[in-house]
Amino acid sequence: MPTTTDNAMLLQYCEEHRADMLDVLKRMVELESPSDNKAAVDHLGEYLAQQFESLGGKVTFFPQETCGAHLKVDFRGDGGKPVLLLGHFDTVWPLGTLKTMPFRVENGRAFGPGVYDMKAGITMMIFALRALRTAGRPESSVSSLCRPITVLLDTDEEVGSTTGRPVVEATAKDCEAVLVLEPSQSLKGQLKTARKGVGDYTIRVRGRASHAGVDFEKGHSAVIELSRQVLEIAKFTDVARGITVNPGVIHGGTRTNVVAAEAVAEVDIRIARAADADELEKKFTSLRPVDPNCTVEISGGLNRPPMERTEGTVRLFRLTQEQGKLMGMTLDEASTGGGSDGNFTSALGIPTLDGLGAVGEGAHASNESIILEELPRRAALLAALIRSL
Ligand SMILES: [Zn+2]
Repeated sequence: MPTTTDNAMLLQYCEEHRADMLDVLKRMVELESPSDNKAAVDHLGEYLAQQFESLGGKVTFFPQETCGAHLKVDFRGDGGKPVLLLGHFDTVWPLGTLKTMPFRVENGRAFGPGVYDMKAGITMMIFALRALRTAGRPESSVSSLCRPITVLLDTDEEVGSTTGRPVVEATAKDCEAVLVLEPSQSLKGQLKTARKGVGDYTIRVRGRASHAGVDFEKGHSAVIELSRQVLEIAKFTDVARGITVNPGVIHGGTRTNVVAAEAVAEVDIRIARAADADELEKKFTSLRPVDPNCTVEISGGLNRPPMERTEGTVRLFRLTQEQGKLMGMTLDEASTGGGSDGNFTSALGIPTLDGLGAVGEGAHASNESIILEELPRRAALLAALIRSL
């Protein structure tokens, strides 16, 4: 059983390497990596592979045609199933964002595109591994004191993990537990023990166009029909049950003097419980036009199942709390409506704890930043958690 002294050593190591952590983070942020720029993402992937390889990891790339190669790194251990450190290294920020949002340190924070979501989290992985290596036998494999460790970083998480998902699932299914280094919740840094499931639907209505002045009666307005459908789906929301339906985008019609032939709504859905998925799906697919001269076409569905607060997840959270306490940290949990790759691993039944990454704010926003003081602390917490598993 790890002791206060063991954890204090991990913390001391990380605190002493705070400047190195900042260097690595800066380098990562300055290697911009928008999900849709394969070359840029691959470039960062090479840098990360070097970092992990220098710690004794065995690197595997999963090359992709349209996005960057996903990166997996395996570290040997003392036996048992591996623990998976999960994350992504793509960001929502287009190439060139650095010109207006450069990496900078100010008032105890680091700013820059992707710094919070989730390059600081990857930095923590690297330094947690380094700390464990130092705490063990420096010349040996990094995880000589614990289970094998697998790091998996995918490259299309911010655009739905279409190609990342199968790699994440295939890797996670053989693991003991999954630790997700996505940002923590709020400036309090809560760990995430539940995430909603996320999906989207497209509702496409086709009516009949006509001249709004000459032939008004001959027309069947897709805009009016879509409006009816939007009001109908709004009723699917049940906040108390954690179900939300948001028709975030609608468009349709061509000109004011034309009865609209076509209109489309794009809808975001969230569910807290997997058990609600089928019913919601049925509601969407049962939508029928009120005007029989219009057609309603529904496509889409759930793409991330919910990460529910399972027993396994709670056990991981309690363990993290204990380990944090040994280092003087008080840790709370929270749930969020946002999805991550942790949703996939949790849905497979693998105990998953999310939000172990940076403390900060402004994901996907121009004030994206992390609290620097927490960077070494969270890295040490991760190291302690890995060792206690
Ligand atoms: Zn993220």
